[in-house]
Amino acid sequence: MADELIERSGAQIAASVRSGSVSAVEVAAATLARVRAVDGLFGSYLTVLNETALARAAGVDERVRSGEQLPLAGVPIAVKDNMCLDGTRTTCGSKILEQWIAPYTATAVARMLAAGAVPIGKANCDEFAMGSSCENSALGVTRNPYDPTRVPGGSSGGSAAAVAAYEAAIGLGSDTGGSIREPGAFCNLIGFKPTYGRVSRYGLIAFASSLDQIGPLARSVEDAALAYDAMAGYDVMDATSIDRPVEATAGSLREDLRGLRIGIVKEFGTAALGDAMDAVYHDAYSDLERLGAELVEVSLPTAEYGVATYYLIAPAECSSNLARFDGVRYGLRVGGEDVRQMYDRTRAAGFGPEVKRRILIGTYALSSGYYDAYYLRAQKVRTLIAQDFQRAFEACDLIACPATSCPAFEFNAKNDPYSMYLMDYYTIPMALAGLPALSVPCGWMTPAGGSVPMPIGLQLSSPLFSERLLLGAAHAYEQATKHAQARKPPSRVNA
Ligand code: GLN
Repeated sequence: MADELIERSGAQIAASVRSGSVSAVEVAAATLARVRAVDGLFGSYLTVLNETALARAAGVDERVRSGEQLPLAGVPIAVKDNMCLDGTRTTCGSKILEQWIAPYTATAVARMLAAGAVPIGKANCDEFAMGSSCENSALGVTRNPYDPTRVPGGSSGGSAAAVAAYEAAIGLGSDTGGSIREPGAFCNLIGFKPTYGRVSRYGLIAFASSLDQIGPLARSVEDAALAYDAMAGYDVMDATSIDRPVEATAGSLREDLRGLRIGIVKEFGTAALGDAMDAVYHDAYSDLERLGAELVEVSLPTAEYGVATYYLIAPAECSSNLARFDGVRYGLRVGGEDVRQMYDRTRAAGFGPEVKRRILIGTYALSSGYYDAYYLRAQKVRTLIAQDFQRAFEACDLIACPATSCPAFEFNAKNDPYSMYLMDYYTIPMALAGLPALSVPCGWMTPAGGSVPMPIGLQLSSPLFSERLLLGAAHAYEQATKHAQARKPPSRVNA
């Protein structure tokens, strides 16, 4: 029973809790038991909420009994540890916030709770969401449930591993340049980044404010849609949140792709990714066609500058956002002779090497004399990239392309910063343009030197605010191909 419970989708759990056939407390208890059994191996969580999860679940049962119709009744969720949850340690995977207790709850998390979700724990992530493998977390190692010798992806790797390993039904992640979509692809999940501004950033500890966006990681499109419907919408507490009605998505997922034109990006040819990946994407594109879509070639000529552009804009914004961690108000303080020395010592001890690198790059790019040459120029290229997409969407409704250039890699495999930065080659352009985009499982391959097949993700993207179209198309593809269901994490068998 407990095993069967944790394998249910979020939608199934919510339906059973609403009907009274199972209680939210039973679901939370089964999920916590699962966490106790496997999290020593996977390391998805930095904090497990044991008692609070059970208490919140009891509250959900009470609300169900009083007749509330909760779309996420009793659904266990993993919350990336860069989102505030009142009274809970919120670390951003950093030593500087290792002991920091959030004094309020992020809007996106609060909306999930209002819809009946039960937070199981705070999930590991790359420090301040900077990274693509979770290896930059200063507080723990997270492993890929499909092969624990490999990374889960990043930066939302803990949320992804938790969902893949049945330690939660839905995970919340944040995506700045690919941090939901890449771990989604690596862990056989839907990883969905909504349009920039769709989900409030209030209570999401900022990395790069013009790019950060919260979204779900889930084992099905339906669950991703339910979480999106719960979280999306204007929030007066976030000046960049967009005041525009949200179309509910979960009730209107498509079963086919008839009448849709899907753009295949000329510059993103898959032959260079190797035979196995090339074959997977070739089949994925044919399946889109088989489901009724018309494939058209589109061009994104400036997308190749995405990585260079992003690695000026994101560090520039991070150098400014992270200035607040100085030992005065939040988290770690290392004392010194004077305030200047206290700042220096606190930041030297509190930040890891990648965060320091970004602060240095960003400060340089924003400094007088270099601002025009670097930051301003990067902003101009960002506009060109957004215009490329606008033009492409005149010829197509959605774009399909790889989510990543390889499946999950082994620990320490990308040991120079640049090769790690290139992991976001396919996901950064959509982030710079603010577009909604997701990764959906599209096949498997055994990497060279690997012993088990690893999942591969297809990325779909669509115009601003067209989440319903995007999730609908992903649903049609998912239901027709069922790649995600082809395998379970091997550890599932033994746990
Ligand atoms: N991997 C990218 C980076 O390191 C993206 C991170 C993210 O989306 N948060 O910045």
